[in-house]
Amino acid sequence: AAKAMGRNRTVVYSPDMREKVEQRASITRDIREALRQGQIVPFYQPKIDLQTGKVVGFEALARWHHLDQGLLTPAAFQTAFEEPELSIAVGEQILKQVAADIRKWLDEGIDCGTIAVNLSPAQFNWIGLAKRFLEIIQAAGVPPERLAVEITETVFLGSTASHVVTALKEFHDNGIRIALDDFGTGYASLVHLKQFPIDDIKIDQSFVKDVESDADSAAIVLAVIELGTSLGMEVIAEGVETIGQVDFLRRGGCTQAQGNFYAAPMSSCQVAHFLNRREAECA
Ligand code: C2E
Ligand code: MG
Ligand code: MG
Ligand code: MG
Repeated sequence: AAKAMGRNRTVVYSPDMREKVEQRASITRDIREALRQGQIVPFYQPKIDLQTGKVVGFEALARWHHLDQGLLTPAAFQTAFEEPELSIAVGEQILKQVAADIRKWLDEGIDCGTIAVNLSPAQFNWIGLAKRFLEIIQAAGVPPERLAVEITETVFLGSTASHVVTALKEFHDNGIRIALDDFGTGYASLVHLKQFPIDDIKIDQSFVKDVESDADSAAIVLAVIELGTSLGMEVIAEGVETIGQVDFLRRGGCTQAQGNFYAAPMSSCQVAHFLNRREAECA
Protein backbone atom coordinates (compact mmCIF):
# COMPACT_ATOMS: atom_id res chain seq x y z
CA ALA A 1 0.00 0.00 0.00
CA ALA A 2 2.89 2.31 0.90
CA LYS A 3 4.35 1.75 -2.54
CA ALA A 4 1.05 2.57 -4.17
CA MET A 5 1.26 6.02 -2.58
CA GLY A 6 4.77 6.54 -3.94
CA ARG A 7 6.18 8.00 -7.11
CA ASN A 8 5.09 5.26 -9.45
CA ARG A 9 1.46 5.66 -8.59
CA THR A 10 -0.72 5.23 -11.64
CA VAL A 11 -3.80 7.33 -12.19
CA VAL A 12 -6.86 5.19 -11.76
CA TYR A 13 -10.02 6.35 -13.46
CA SER A 14 -13.19 5.74 -11.57
CA PRO A 15 -15.84 3.95 -13.65
CA ASP A 16 -17.67 7.27 -13.77
CA MET A 17 -14.76 9.18 -15.25
CA ARG A 18 -13.98 6.40 -17.67
CA GLU A 19 -17.56 6.48 -18.87
CA LYS A 20 -17.41 10.25 -19.40
CA VAL A 21 -14.17 10.01 -21.34
CA GLU A 22 -15.61 7.26 -23.53
CA GLN A 23 -18.84 9.14 -24.07
CA ARG A 24 -16.91 12.17 -25.23
CA ALA A 25 -14.79 10.10 -27.61
CA SER A 26 -17.88 8.46 -29.03
CA ILE A 27 -19.79 11.72 -29.59
CA THR A 28 -16.68 13.17 -31.23
CA ARG A 29 -16.65 10.22 -33.66
CA ASP A 30 -20.37 10.65 -34.30
CA ILE A 31 -19.96 14.36 -35.04
CA ARG A 32 -17.06 13.71 -37.43
CA GLU A 33 -19.21 11.17 -39.25
CA ALA A 34 -22.15 13.59 -39.31
CA LEU A 35 -19.88 16.20 -40.88
CA ARG A 36 -18.82 13.74 -43.57
CA GLN A 37 -22.46 12.93 -44.27
CA GLY A 38 -23.44 16.60 -44.45
CA GLN A 39 -25.88 16.27 -41.55
CA ILE A 40 -24.73 19.42 -39.74
CA VAL A 41 -26.20 22.48 -41.40
CA PRO A 42 -26.89 26.14 -40.66
CA PHE A 43 -30.44 27.26 -39.95
CA TYR A 44 -31.25 30.96 -40.19
CA GLN A 45 -33.14 33.25 -37.82
CA PRO A 46 -34.02 36.78 -38.97
CA LYS A 47 -33.04 39.99 -37.22
CA ILE A 48 -35.64 42.73 -37.54
CA ASP A 49 -35.13 46.50 -37.56
CA LEU A 50 -37.46 47.71 -34.80
CA GLN A 51 -38.13 51.07 -36.47
CA THR A 52 -38.90 49.92 -40.01
CA GLY A 53 -39.86 46.27 -39.45
CA LYS A 54 -37.44 45.29 -42.23
CA VAL A 55 -35.21 42.22 -42.10
CA VAL A 56 -31.65 43.37 -41.39
CA GLY A 57 -30.11 39.94 -41.78
CA PHE A 58 -30.02 36.52 -40.18
CA GLU A 59 -28.08 34.59 -37.56
CA ALA A 60 -26.78 31.20 -38.68
CA LEU A 61 -27.45 28.54 -36.02
CA ALA A 62 -26.11 25.00 -36.31
CA ARG A 63 -28.52 22.08 -36.55
CA TRP A 64 -27.82 18.36 -36.80
CA HIS A 65 -30.16 16.25 -38.91
CA HIS A 66 -29.66 13.15 -36.77
CA LEU A 67 -30.80 9.90 -38.34
CA ASP A 68 -32.40 8.51 -35.16
CA GLN A 69 -32.98 11.54 -33.00
CA GLY A 70 -34.33 14.03 -35.53
CA LEU A 71 -33.28 17.68 -35.68
CA LEU A 72 -30.84 18.46 -32.86
CA THR A 73 -29.93 21.91 -31.50
CA PRO A 74 -26.41 22.73 -30.24
CA ALA A 75 -27.34 21.84 -26.64
CA ALA A 76 -27.26 18.18 -27.74
CA PHE A 77 -23.83 18.41 -29.38
CA GLN A 78 -21.90 21.05 -27.44
CA THR A 79 -18.68 19.06 -27.95
CA ALA A 80 -18.74 20.20 -31.57
CA PHE A 81 -18.02 23.77 -30.43
CA GLU A 82 -15.80 22.97 -27.45
CA GLU A 83 -13.15 20.49 -28.64
CA PRO A 84 -10.30 22.48 -30.22
CA GLU A 85 -9.85 20.43 -33.39
CA LEU A 86 -13.43 19.42 -33.86
CA SER A 87 -14.66 23.00 -33.41
CA ILE A 88 -12.41 24.07 -36.28
CA ALA A 89 -13.79 21.35 -38.57
CA VAL A 90 -17.40 22.05 -37.63
CA GLY A 91 -16.95 25.82 -37.92
CA GLU A 92 -15.33 25.48 -41.30
CA GLN A 93 -18.12 23.32 -42.67
CA ILE A 94 -20.84 25.60 -41.35
CA LEU A 95 -19.12 28.68 -42.76
CA LYS A 96 -18.74 27.04 -46.17
CA GLN A 97 -22.46 26.33 -46.25
CA VAL A 98 -23.30 29.84 -45.07
CA ALA A 99 -21.06 31.33 -47.76
CA ALA A 100 -22.62 29.12 -50.45
CA ASP A 101 -26.12 30.09 -49.28
CA ILE A 102 -25.31 33.82 -49.35
CA ARG A 103 -23.79 33.51 -52.84
CA LYS A 104 -26.89 31.69 -54.06
CA TRP A 105 -29.26 34.30 -52.58
CA LEU A 106 -27.27 37.13 -54.12
CA ASP A 107 -27.26 35.36 -57.51
CA GLU A 108 -31.03 35.02 -57.27
CA GLY A 109 -31.42 38.71 -56.42
CA ILE A 110 -32.51 37.94 -52.87
CA ASP A 111 -31.30 40.52 -50.36
CA CYS A 112 -30.51 38.43 -47.29
CA GLY A 113 -28.81 41.31 -45.46
CA THR A 114 -25.92 40.47 -43.13
CA ILE A 115 -25.46 36.89 -41.98
CA ALA A 116 -23.97 36.39 -38.51
CA VAL A 117 -21.93 33.32 -37.66
CA ASN A 118 -21.22 32.25 -34.06
CA LEU A 119 -17.60 31.62 -33.04
CA SER A 120 -16.73 29.81 -29.80
CA PRO A 121 -13.69 30.36 -27.56
CA ALA A 122 -12.32 26.96 -28.72
CA GLN A 123 -12.36 28.19 -32.32
CA PHE A 124 -10.34 31.24 -31.31
CA ASN A 125 -7.71 28.89 -29.91
CA TRP A 126 -6.53 28.43 -33.45
CA ILE A 127 -4.36 31.27 -34.58
CA GLY A 128 -5.34 30.79 -38.23
CA LEU A 129 -9.07 31.29 -37.60
CA ALA A 130 -9.60 34.74 -39.12
CA LYS A 131 -7.39 34.10 -42.15
CA ARG A 132 -9.18 30.82 -42.92
CA PHE A 133 -12.57 32.48 -42.42
CA LEU A 134 -11.68 35.16 -44.96
CA GLU A 135 -10.31 32.58 -47.42
CA ILE A 136 -13.54 30.60 -47.30
CA ILE A 137 -15.82 33.54 -48.02
CA GLN A 138 -13.51 34.85 -50.70
CA ALA A 139 -13.43 31.45 -52.40
CA ALA A 140 -17.24 31.48 -52.40
CA GLY A 141 -17.32 34.98 -53.89
CA VAL A 142 -19.06 36.54 -50.91
CA PRO A 143 -18.22 40.14 -49.94
CA PRO A 144 -17.05 40.31 -46.28
CA GLU A 145 -19.61 43.07 -45.63
CA ARG A 146 -22.27 40.35 -45.85
CA LEU A 147 -20.90 38.67 -42.73
CA ALA A 148 -20.84 39.27 -39.02
CA VAL A 149 -19.27 37.17 -36.28
CA GLU A 150 -20.89 36.68 -32.89
CA ILE A 151 -18.57 36.20 -29.94
CA THR A 152 -19.28 35.91 -26.23
CA GLU A 153 -17.40 37.68 -23.48
CA THR A 154 -15.80 34.38 -22.43
CA VAL A 155 -13.41 34.66 -25.41
CA PHE A 156 -11.65 37.46 -23.57
CA LEU A 157 -10.74 35.10 -20.73
CA GLY A 158 -7.77 32.80 -20.51
CA SER A 159 -5.16 31.70 -22.98
CA THR A 160 -7.03 32.65 -26.14
CA ALA A 161 -7.24 36.34 -25.24
CA SER A 162 -4.27 37.48 -27.33
CA HIS A 163 -5.40 35.51 -30.42
CA VAL A 164 -8.79 37.08 -30.00
CA VAL A 165 -7.45 40.61 -30.20
CA THR A 166 -5.56 39.82 -33.41
CA ALA A 167 -8.45 37.92 -34.96
CA LEU A 168 -11.03 40.61 -34.16
CA LYS A 169 -8.83 43.24 -35.73
CA GLU A 170 -8.46 41.10 -38.84
CA PHE A 171 -12.22 40.57 -39.10
CA HIS A 172 -12.92 44.23 -38.53
CA ASP A 173 -10.27 45.53 -40.95
CA ASN A 174 -11.81 43.33 -43.63
CA GLY A 175 -15.29 44.72 -43.15
CA ILE A 176 -16.83 41.91 -41.10
CA ARG A 177 -19.13 43.10 -38.31
CA ILE A 178 -18.49 41.97 -34.76
CA ALA A 179 -21.31 41.33 -32.33
CA LEU A 180 -20.97 40.71 -28.60
CA ASP A 181 -23.41 37.87 -27.88
CA ASP A 182 -25.27 37.05 -24.63
CA PHE A 183 -24.28 40.44 -23.28
CA GLY A 184 -24.45 40.67 -19.52
CA THR A 185 -24.23 36.94 -18.78
CA GLY A 186 -20.49 36.43 -19.00
CA TYR A 187 -17.43 38.14 -17.69
CA ALA A 188 -18.87 41.53 -18.40
CA SER A 189 -16.40 44.34 -18.53
CA LEU A 190 -17.08 47.67 -20.14
CA VAL A 191 -13.43 47.72 -21.15
CA HIS A 192 -14.27 45.22 -23.90
CA LEU A 193 -16.61 47.70 -25.52
CA LYS A 194 -13.86 50.29 -25.59
CA GLN A 195 -10.88 48.12 -26.46
CA PHE A 196 -12.33 45.97 -29.20
CA PRO A 197 -14.01 46.91 -32.46
CA ILE A 198 -17.51 45.85 -31.41
CA ASP A 199 -20.34 46.86 -33.79
CA ASP A 200 -23.34 45.19 -32.17
CA ILE A 201 -24.42 44.22 -28.66
CA LYS A 202 -26.87 41.34 -28.28
CA ILE A 203 -28.91 41.49 -25.09
CA ASP A 204 -29.24 37.99 -23.70
CA GLN A 205 -32.68 36.43 -23.77
CA SER A 206 -32.61 35.86 -20.00
CA PHE A 207 -33.08 39.63 -19.58
CA VAL A 208 -35.49 40.05 -22.49
CA LYS A 209 -37.74 37.25 -21.22
CA ASP A 210 -38.71 39.17 -18.07
CA VAL A 211 -38.90 42.79 -19.23
CA GLU A 212 -42.65 42.87 -18.77
CA SER A 213 -42.76 41.18 -15.37
CA ASP A 214 -39.54 42.12 -13.62
CA ALA A 215 -38.50 45.70 -12.95
CA ASP A 216 -34.82 44.78 -12.59
CA SER A 217 -34.68 43.05 -15.97
CA ALA A 218 -36.46 46.02 -17.52
CA ALA A 219 -33.96 48.44 -15.98
CA ILE A 220 -30.97 46.37 -17.12
CA VAL A 221 -32.30 46.14 -20.68
CA LEU A 222 -32.91 49.90 -20.85
CA ALA A 223 -29.42 50.59 -19.49
CA VAL A 224 -27.78 48.29 -22.04
CA ILE A 225 -29.75 49.92 -24.87
CA GLU A 226 -28.62 53.35 -23.66
CA LEU A 227 -25.02 52.19 -23.34
CA GLY A 228 -24.87 50.53 -26.76
CA THR A 229 -26.66 53.22 -28.73
CA SER A 230 -24.60 56.00 -27.17
CA LEU A 231 -21.48 54.13 -28.29
CA GLY A 232 -22.95 54.05 -31.81
CA MET A 233 -23.63 50.31 -31.76
CA GLU A 234 -26.63 48.36 -32.89
CA VAL A 235 -28.42 46.83 -29.91
CA ILE A 236 -30.12 43.53 -30.73
CA ALA A 237 -32.56 41.90 -28.32
CA GLU A 238 -32.43 38.09 -28.41
CA GLY A 239 -35.20 35.61 -27.72
CA VAL A 240 -38.08 38.03 -28.32
CA GLU A 241 -41.33 36.07 -28.03
CA THR A 242 -44.18 38.51 -27.36
CA ILE A 243 -45.63 41.71 -28.77
CA GLY A 244 -45.31 43.19 -25.26
CA GLN A 245 -41.56 42.68 -25.38
CA VAL A 246 -41.42 44.22 -28.86
CA ASP A 247 -43.29 47.33 -27.65
CA PHE A 248 -41.07 47.66 -24.60
CA LEU A 249 -37.90 47.33 -26.67
CA ARG A 250 -39.05 49.75 -29.35
CA ARG A 251 -40.07 52.37 -26.80
CA GLY A 252 -36.72 51.84 -25.04
CA GLY A 253 -34.82 52.64 -28.25
CA CYS A 254 -33.58 49.15 -29.00
CA THR A 255 -32.58 48.99 -32.67
CA GLN A 256 -33.09 45.33 -33.61
CA ALA A 257 -34.91 42.25 -32.38
CA GLN A 258 -34.63 38.55 -33.01
CA GLY A 259 -36.76 35.72 -31.69
CA ASN A 260 -39.62 33.34 -32.18
CA PHE A 261 -42.08 36.25 -32.18
CA TYR A 262 -40.82 36.97 -35.71
CA ALA A 263 -39.59 33.55 -36.77
CA ALA A 264 -37.85 30.50 -35.37
CA PRO A 265 -34.58 29.46 -37.03
CA MET A 266 -35.43 28.08 -40.49
CA SER A 267 -33.64 25.98 -43.10
CA SER A 268 -31.84 27.79 -45.92
CA CYS A 269 -34.51 26.84 -48.45
CA GLN A 270 -37.18 28.63 -46.39
CA VAL A 271 -35.34 31.95 -46.32
CA ALA A 272 -36.40 33.29 -49.74
CA HIS A 273 -40.04 32.47 -49.03
CA PHE A 274 -39.83 34.13 -45.62
CA LEU A 275 -38.36 37.31 -47.14
CA ASN A 276 -41.00 37.47 -49.88
CA ARG A 277 -43.87 36.98 -47.46
CA ARG A 278 -42.49 39.55 -45.06
CA GLU A 279 -42.04 42.11 -47.84
CA ALA A 280 -45.62 41.55 -48.95
CA GLU A 281 -46.88 42.00 -45.38
CA CYS A 282 -44.87 45.14 -44.68
CA ALA A 283 -45.68 46.85 -47.99
P1 C2E B 1 -26.87 32.14 -29.31
O1 C2E B 1 -25.88 32.54 -30.31
O2 C2E B 1 -27.07 33.07 -28.16
O3 C2E B 1 -28.21 31.90 -30.11
C1 C2E B 1 -29.48 32.23 -29.64
C2 C2E B 1 -30.25 31.01 -29.22
O4 C2E B 1 -31.58 31.38 -28.88
C3 C2E B 1 -30.41 29.97 -30.34
O5 C2E B 1 -30.35 28.68 -29.72
C4 C2E B 1 -31.82 30.25 -30.85
O6 C2E B 1 -32.40 29.14 -31.52
C5 C2E B 1 -32.52 30.57 -29.56
N1 C2E B 1 -33.74 31.36 -29.76
C6 C2E B 1 -34.05 32.15 -30.79
N2 C2E B 1 -35.26 32.75 -30.62
C7 C2E B 1 -35.71 32.32 -29.43
C8 C2E B 1 -36.92 32.60 -28.68
O7 C2E B 1 -37.80 33.36 -29.08
N3 C2E B 1 -37.03 31.98 -27.48
C9 C2E B 1 -36.07 31.14 -26.98
N4 C2E B 1 -36.28 30.60 -25.78
N5 C2E B 1 -34.93 30.87 -27.66
C10 C2E B 1 -34.75 31.45 -28.87
P2 C2E B 1 -29.65 27.46 -30.43
O8 C2E B 1 -29.90 27.54 -31.91
O9 C2E B 1 -30.04 26.23 -29.70
O10 C2E B 1 -28.11 27.76 -30.18
C11 C2E B 1 -27.60 27.78 -28.89
C12 C2E B 1 -26.21 28.33 -28.85
O11 C2E B 1 -25.30 27.47 -29.55
C13 C2E B 1 -26.07 29.68 -29.55
O12 C2E B 1 -26.49 30.69 -28.69
C14 C2E B 1 -24.60 29.70 -29.86
O13 C2E B 1 -23.87 30.13 -28.75
C15 C2E B 1 -24.28 28.24 -30.12
N6 C2E B 1 -24.20 27.99 -31.56
C16 C2E B 1 -25.21 27.78 -32.45
N7 C2E B 1 -24.74 27.60 -33.69
C17 C2E B 1 -23.39 27.71 -33.61
C18 C2E B 1 -22.31 27.62 -34.57
O14 C2E B 1 -22.52 27.43 -35.77
N8 C2E B 1 -21.05 27.79 -34.08
C19 C2E B 1 -20.79 28.04 -32.76
N9 C2E B 1 -19.53 28.20 -32.38
N10 C2E B 1 -21.77 28.11 -31.84
C20 C2E B 1 -23.05 27.95 -32.25
MG1 MG C 1 -25.39 34.11 -31.36
MG1 MG D 1 -27.03 34.89 -27.68
MG1 MG E 1 -27.37 32.43 -25.88
